[in-house]
Amino acid sequence: MIKNYMEILVDEVFNELKGSNEICKDIVCKHDIKAIALNNLPPVYFKYNSTDGEKKAFLLDRQRRISVLAKVAEAADLVCSSCTKNSK
Ligand SMILES: [Zn+2]
Repeated sequence: MIKNYMEILVDEVFNELKGSNEICKDIVCKHDIKAIALNNLPPVYFKYNSTDGEKKAFLLDRQRRISVLAKVAEAADLVCSSCTKNSK
């Protein structure tokens, strides 16, 4: 199955945010935050012959992580501005 690596990156960044306790833990919010962030980010698919190194470099790119973090935070603000389960 072909994977959207942006999805993996959004997951990782989301989990980091979650670890820092700055994000709502509601399951619906979590889904919506990821969906909105992903709609605002380009999908990334690697070619069949891409190396693990290339994939790892994509996921670890500092600048990219910062922009993904910004999108996730933006989506979280949007989703959780009216969320009653917000435990912030
Ligand atoms: Zn929420």
